[in-house]
Amino acid sequence: MALKGLDIFKLLPKTNCKKCGNPTCMAFAMKVAQGSIAIDKCPDISAEALAQLSDASAPPMKALTIGDGGKQYKLGGETVLFRHDKTFVSKSLYAVAVCQDCIDEKLPKIKEIDYDRIGERMIVDLINVEFTGDKAKFLDTVKKAQGAGRTLILEVKDADAAKAALDIVKAEKPVLNGADETNWEIFNKIAVEAGVVLGVGGKDLDTIYETVQKLEGAGNKNLIIDVGSVSIKDAFANAVQIRRAALKDQDRSFGYPSIVNLHKLVGNDENLETALASVFTLKYGSIIILSNMSYATALPLYGLRQNIYTDPQKPMKMEPKIYPINGADAESICAVTVDFALTYFVINGEMERSGIPVNLIVSDAGGYSVLTSWAAGKFSAGTISKFFKEANIEGQVKSRNLLIPGKVAVLKGELEESLPGWKILVGPNEAVGVVKWLKDFKG
Ligand code: SF4
Repeated sequence: MALKGLDIFKLLPKTNCKKCGNPTCMAFAMKVAQGSIAIDKCPDISAEALAQLSDASAPPMKALTIGDGGKQYKLGGETVLFRHDKTFVSKSLYAVAVCQDCIDEKLPKIKEIDYDRIGERMIVDLINVEFTGDKAKFLDTVKKAQGAGRTLILEVKDADAAKAALDIVKAEKPVLNGADETNWEIFNKIAVEAGVVLGVGGKDLDTIYETVQKLEGAGNKNLIIDVGSVSIKDAFANAVQIRRAALKDQDRSFGYPSIVNLHKLVGNDENLETALASVFTLKYGSIIILSNMSYATALPLYGLRQNIYTDPQKPMKMEPKIYPINGADAESICAVTVDFALTYFVINGEMERSGIPVNLIVSDAGGYSVLTSWAAGKFSAGTISKFFKEANIEGQVKSRNLLIPGKVAVLKGELEESLPGWKILVGPNEAVGVVKWLKDFKG
């Protein structure tokens, strides 16, 4: 249950000493109840009260870390069910499943997915190595997967094979996914000894719940719940029920991140898998395992994830710089736009469609769209010419033709004054018109 301010206040020393930065202990207690300050900020609180409050005021969902220093990932720590209530905390991670028979074919494709979208590097985050009955081959596959430089999930129910695999990769903090109602004691021991997150599954939700409670009773709260692979319907129902139980009903035994194995649920249907991966990105797959990853899957999926797991209050911004389109060189016509990511993608797409080489200059405009930034004074002749100087645009391009959005045609005169030597060209009002404009342009 969530603690109320009064419950917390009763456990405080009540000296109103202000060491916590609050005028009274009651003010401090109210802030702890809201989650805006940590209980240990009161230096005078007793150890017993601290233990009591830390447990009860712990977030409803555990936040875990997997991976080693070079590539760590956060899982869980969510506080709300819906993204419109508050920004989600830990983005879904995408994994590709491999076994001894397919790893050689899949590894090059896994490494191929590597691109940047609005400052975020998009790669296959994790590799799920599946044990299929042969320990020697499993260990060989683990070694090969380790070489790909991704954090691993070891999907194995054989304790011997699990232990041997962890001897190889435990320093890289993989996930050991294999505990269930039949083997939880030995898997708990193996995971704790290796210091890794333990994946817990089971034949149904009640069984999983009981196994999690047994593991918690044994002192292990470094867990992730496998929502199962009985059917797509069951997996989705489980993922939603687990998250609702944790966040709505404050049931901490379900307050763990989840693993969804679409490789097992779907098989080799890329379109269905991509569609389902989108569904589980929204509700509530912390790790989503796919059979494969191609650009046809990655582009929509990673774009969706980026939209879901960013603060809706903060506009997504492109890095202000020159973006050469269609093989543009220093002689190609220049065009200027704002750094709002949506504007960039719309105009960039239309320019690509024209086939004409263009140097698209993204100016620092505070992350707003063309008209909003113009109205706010962030996309003006002054700001554009200042950016041109700071970014040394004239040193990077030889063309002096500069296309500006039609909606800010009013800037033409001022830009001609502030950027001497440049020919300012007014483009169409809408991005869609730029294809014809560029094709008709005779530089
Ligand atoms: Fe009260 Fe502790 Fe804050 Fe002092 S530091 S005012 S005792 S809550």
